[in-house]
Amino acid sequence: MMSVPATNHRKIIHIDMDAFYASVEQRDDPELRGKPIVVGGLPEGRGGVVATASYEARKFGVRSAMPSKKAQQLCPQAIFVRPRFAVYKDVSRHIREIFSRYTDLIEPLSLDEAFLDVTEDKLGIGSAIEVATQIKQAIFDELQLTASAGVSVNKFVAKIASDINKPNGLKFIGPSSIEAFMEQLPVEKFFGVGKVTAQKMKSMSLHTGADLKRLEEDELVKHFGKSGRFYYRIVRGIDERPVQPHRETKSMGAEDTFAHDLTTFDEMSVELDKIAQTVATRLERYALKGRTITLKVKYSNFKQITRNQSFSAPVGGVGILAQTAKQLLSATNLDEVRVRLLGISVSNFGELSPKNNGPTEQLKLF
Ligand SMILES: [Mg+2]
Repeated sequence: MMSVPATNHRKIIHIDMDAFYASVEQRDDPELRGKPIVVGGLPEGRGGVVATASYEARKFGVRSAMPSKKAQQLCPQAIFVRPRFAVYKDVSRHIREIFSRYTDLIEPLSLDEAFLDVTEDKLGIGSAIEVATQIKQAIFDELQLTASAGVSVNKFVAKIASDINKPNGLKFIGPSSIEAFMEQLPVEKFFGVGKVTAQKMKSMSLHTGADLKRLEEDELVKHFGKSGRFYYRIVRGIDERPVQPHRETKSMGAEDTFAHDLTTFDEMSVELDKIAQTVATRLERYALKGRTITLKVKYSNFKQITRNQSFSAPVGGVGILAQTAKQLLSATNLDEVRVRLLGISVSNFGELSPKNNGPTEQLKLF
């Protein structure tokens, strides 16, 4: 049986800004403070989605990635604000500069989130909790914004920890409490467990980490494929993935596995519109455009195909993504198919300068 080694623990911090876009807007416009605001597409427009909602709006159930129309229904008094990505990027750069005072091992996950390895911090502070406290304070003093921090010995636990005392939180989960923490964790919280996998786990009476822990590695692999190996380790608090400072984004996309197989072009078309919206929102968030659009189709027999289309100029809008994906789909054989997954991704971003601290969203762990 594996266990966490008693010595040589890494010190990992996950920093996550609180309601980032909304907080920046409230900071810059006193009229918006204390009010429910939604940063994202306008509810009047077609296909507008919520990028970030202020905490005042979240009380009404408004959530990120929700259609803006729905947000307005839930919270009619919400003020809708268009995002200012150039400003968020500037703030993000400043936050990274603060991180770099303590460590060079910084792995940004998005504009407002990053992992830091402070096992050996530059200032010789030694305590990861103290480093996290100082970073939060510097962000507040210099940017008038709050962040939440999770501190642990690996990325997985640090990331979950940062979410526990939000906003303006700091949560430490040390080596001796990791296993107990993982045991009580609902399976939905495990990295890579989407809604379909969660359903499957529940049908097997697997609700928490403790339930997963009862299964042998082979059984987990049998039921959940390669991910099973990850679950086996992570439920024991083991995650050796390093903090990767210079990872460059090669592609960005989204995919969806359906609870029921799709059989008609019309059904698939509706899903592709939704997926295209998700991808376009992500690209916008990182100010990215790419020259290649790829469609992925997985059939009920798990056979998978990809088809792509390249353009002379970079693209990234929802219209071109949806249209291209549908064209690529219609060129495949659609006779008597049963489709269980569709995905759209964009790649071929062109030169990202080595200094670009931008997107490193890890889209898939495996
Ligand atoms: Mg955040």
